[in-house]
Amino acid sequence: MSDLHAQLQQSKAFPIVKDLVCDRKSFDRIQQAGGFITVRTGSAPDANSIPVPKENADLAMDAAQCIGCGACVAACKNASAMLFVAAKVSHLGLMPQGQPERYKRVKSMVEQMDTEGFGACTVTGSCEAVCPKEISLDFIARMNRDYAVALIKGEPKQMAGGGAG
Ligand code: SF4
Repeated sequence: MSDLHAQLQQSKAFPIVKDLVCDRKSFDRIQQAGGFITVRTGSAPDANSIPVPKENADLAMDAAQCIGCGACVAACKNASAMLFVAAKVSHLGLMPQGQPERYKRVKSMVEQMDTEGFGACTVTGSCEAVCPKEISLDFIARMNRDYAVALIKGEPKQMAGGGAG
């Protein structure tokens, strides 16, 4: 059995299909739970019509680098998907277009992650160390803050299409 196969077997959210092939649809379901915005896009706006602070734009671009490869889950002794989910939550939550659903989004995506059976994060940093896109652990801290606010606000879950459930 390969090392990669052995590592992936620790995550029940990534069931093994055959040697070196696992089912990563759990990542898709997390994305479907909240990884979208509901603003009307209409025709293409002028590039500068929605001002975005440079720091936020840079961070959002960093988070958007995540390719959903799952290496973070495979490397984590807890089979946690926190780095992946944090990247997906953050790249929308940092932009003005992502504000209307910001707290519903984080609640929905974290709860879907838990439903999928990914493990808890104990901040070992192995995910960040292996991430091919150098997604930072800081995004997990950012997501945890937003999740705490969502709980305090009593946000409902986000439904596909923009409603609340
Ligand atoms: S290892 Fe990095 S790029 Fe791959 S899914 Fe995890 S956060 Fe995304």
